[in-house]
Amino acid sequence: MTVGYFGNPKEPRPNVPAGYHLQPIDVASTSPADGLEVCIVSVTPDDAGTGLRRVRAAVGDMCFVIAYVRDGLGVDWMPRLVELGADDVLSETTADQLGLVLKKAEKAADFRKLMQQSLSRLETERNILQAAIDNLPSPIFFKNRQGIYSGCNTAFSRFIGLPADQVKGASVYDVAPEHLAKVYKEADEKLMQKGGSQFYEAEVCYANGEERHVMFSKAVTRDPSTGEVNGLAGAMLDITDRKELEEQLRRAAEFDHLTGAYNRRKFFKSAGEAEAEARENGAGLAVLVIDVDNFKSINDRHGHAIGDGALCHLVEQLGEHLREGHFFARAGGEEFFALLKDCDVDQAAEIAESIRRRIETSIFSESGVVLSYHVSIGVAALEQDETVSSALMRADKALYRAKEVGRNRVFVA
Ligand code: GH3
Ligand code: MG
Ligand code: MG
Repeated sequence: MTVGYFGNPKEPRPNVPAGYHLQPIDVASTSPADGLEVCIVSVTPDDAGTGLRRVRAAVGDMCFVIAYVRDGLGVDWMPRLVELGADDVLSETTADQLGLVLKKAEKAADFRKLMQQSLSRLETERNILQAAIDNLPSPIFFKNRQGIYSGCNTAFSRFIGLPADQVKGASVYDVAPEHLAKVYKEADEKLMQKGGSQFYEAEVCYANGEERHVMFSKAVTRDPSTGEVNGLAGAMLDITDRKELEEQLRRAAEFDHLTGAYNRRKFFKSAGEAEAEARENGAGLAVLVIDVDNFKSINDRHGHAIGDGALCHLVEQLGEHLREGHFFARAGGEEFFALLKDCDVDQAAEIAESIRRRIETSIFSESGVVLSYHVSIGVAALEQDETVSSALMRADKALYRAKEVGRNRVFVA
């Protein structure tokens, strides 16, 4: 084994036992002790502090430094030398004494080597994990118990708009607008006090201005030795596409895709609510069944696309005419239902008549086709304990009579 020796060349060198090779080293040289595991440094009371500091700087933390006390340093100096950076102290350099200290040094060197290997294994594993999370599209972050970021992946760094080394050490207040930072901080604190995991949805804005809908998924981390919560790990899962799909499904479930009016299913859902409300407060509720007259002939004469346009035109007219609180929907084909709140039969008939007049007098034009059309309307006001469905049946019968007597008119059930 090679043992480095830092000392005055004019003084006698320590006698190393067989099997050790003493390598004299000049402390002033730039890299005097590359890879050296053990070294002896000869010190006097005057140069002990600076000598040990210089040697430590030269050999690094992993080298076992033996302070060799030359004449004049009493036993009371020994702990002082350890404080100054020596790993062991030698007062004489007999081969026996030196042999014993070098054995201890060798053991310590082996132990340090093992520690170093463990550390480098940990470092490798850490790098693999970091590379793995850097490859994930979801932003991932870690915080300590005080809520300070202790790490993140590339996606989180992109989300925040700061390099990962600047995210590290920052608090949420450094990276998010104050009102959001407060929400995040409170949620983090609640989770760390309670333990376990936490999920919530939020709309977030990326540093590049992109707005996304995300699901925060966080879980506490714990100190392996005490079991105490020492921070949290979080991920942001992008659920924007799912949210859009949900919105499309919600719209498809409630709206007619051709005209954009509410559909039959939504009508009956709202009708149920209006029915209960009217029953509770004793207010009037009326229904209309509106059917385009001779609609088939519009299709036959101008084509299906113009027929579609006429249906959209009718929905526009109804939308503009029916005041807020009233509700209408496409029941199917060229037939529409309307629900008129706080209306008795006369008021409902009046509204129906004004709708009829509005349609009769309005002109629909599309792709060079200009036409007018009219509607027939059946009216019914809900009687005591009557359901909307039953009132619609009566209104439908009234509509049938309106058709029978010539169309373009309003009939009350
Ligand atoms: P009436 O005055 O008796 O109501 O006569 P009508 O022609 O309006 O009634 P009919 O029930 O005979 O015909 C309704 C037509 O509506 C038949 C169908 O092709 C058409 N229709 C139903 N849905 C649509 C649609 O979405 N677009 C188009 N363009 N036509 C439709
Ligand atoms: Mg019709
Ligand atoms: Mg019809």
